[in-house]
Amino acid sequence: MQFIVCKFGGSSVASSERLEQIVKILKLNQQRRCVVLSAPGKVNENDIKITDLLIEISCKALKNEEYSMLINDFKNKFLSIYKPLKVPVSKIEEILTDLDKRLESPKDNASRFRDLIVAAGEDINSRLFALYLCSIGIKATYINPAESGMIVTSVFGDAQPLPESYMKLASLKKLCSEQIIVFPGFFGYTENYECATFSRGGSDLSGAVLASALDVIEYENWTDVNGIFSAHPKMVDSPIQIPALTYKEMRELSYIGFNVFHEEAVRPVMLKKIPIRLRNTNNIANEGTLIVSERLPIERDVIGVASGGGYCSFTLQKFLMNREKGFGRQLLGIFEDMGLSYEHCPSGVDNISVILDQKQLKPGSVNNIIRIINDKLHPDEIRTEFGIALVSVVGEGLVHKIGVMAQAATALSKSGINIKMVNQGSSEMSIIFGIDASDEKKAVNALYNEFFKT
Ligand code: ASP
Repeated sequence: MQFIVCKFGGSSVASSERLEQIVKILKLNQQRRCVVLSAPGKVNENDIKITDLLIEISCKALKNEEYSMLINDFKNKFLSIYKPLKVPVSKIEEILTDLDKRLESPKDNASRFRDLIVAAGEDINSRLFALYLCSIGIKATYINPAESGMIVTSVFGDAQPLPESYMKLASLKKLCSEQIIVFPGFFGYTENYECATFSRGGSDLSGAVLASALDVIEYENWTDVNGIFSAHPKMVDSPIQIPALTYKEMRELSYIGFNVFHEEAVRPVMLKKIPIRLRNTNNIANEGTLIVSERLPIERDVIGVASGGGYCSFTLQKFLMNREKGFGRQLLGIFEDMGLSYEHCPSGVDNISVILDQKQLKPGSVNNIIRIINDKLHPDEIRTEFGIALVSVVGEGLVHKIGVMAQAATALSKSGINIKMVNQGSSEMSIIFGIDASDEKKAVNALYNEFFKT
């Protein structure tokens, strides 16, 4: 039998009702044998996510501050979820003592201690969920990431799965053929047997590693939205849902604005061409969005419009710049030496711009950059600009379609939007426009109307 890995995000495991919904989903398809769980997230806007609570607990513990109230909040949250499901309170309380044990561990390495505490959210939730499944007659077992082989690098808070994980985890296939396995997301163990978490949202990555190791037919990622839309619903009223898109299109869309799936989680499944399906736990009737290696050439060449603000640019003007060898390399080297990464580097005959995420800059950075550029490269002029938004038109179809650029630029100009920069990557998967941040929403709507409403 071929299996499906189902990963359920924080909001999908945040209440008893939502766990009952998961059971319904599992019963609908017997191939759903590997369940990857997040820690409980929010039901209501003002709730605190279990992971955030644990981060706070670990900070207080490291500073020797009082945190007993927070422990109560943590335990009460799990009791409020599992008690109504008739999991015996004594069992729930026994499993919850795991956090107390973790808090007694050495604090000499703050990041290591933090990861051990923070991982308790996923770990405890998975133990309890497996227990719940068994209590309603579904054969299930909790899988310990240390014993099963989720081996990761020892970069605490930003670990990466190591290649040997895939081989080790593949041996879970046998267990999957007999029952449902419940695997905690978000963390693994280093070669020294230390608990280390992935970056935030990393349960997606755990699911992707398992999907690849178990050679599944599909990786289902269950959240609280129907799928991926052609534009962000905060920007455009009721944008259409995308039925299917490619991994590359997904990467282009998530580069600015679309944060539905952890970026690092795409690679393990992409290498094996395993389809990812994003689905809504609260709306099973909706088929979700499928992410595949190749999609049918549907009627739309453009699949989505993404946008993001908060960029700045440094533009250099120098007569005969095009003849100076190594100019671009030296310019980018200045940013590299200052620990800054750049997003785009469009150039003209005698000018070049470097566009970067403004958040990286510290007070004084701009002056320093200008001073070093002047010293090393002697440009005729340097101009800086802040508050730039990037708006991107994405689609595999751009490669063979004539006129998308013209169509997009015309739509922007008809809306009175000044284009500061255009970048069409060499893969021709996207056209990115740099515009004034105050025009972001207007630009997204203009492009959306152009490509999706005509
Ligand atoms: N619970 C973790 C977080 O909130 C990991 C996850 O849910 O994927 O980031």
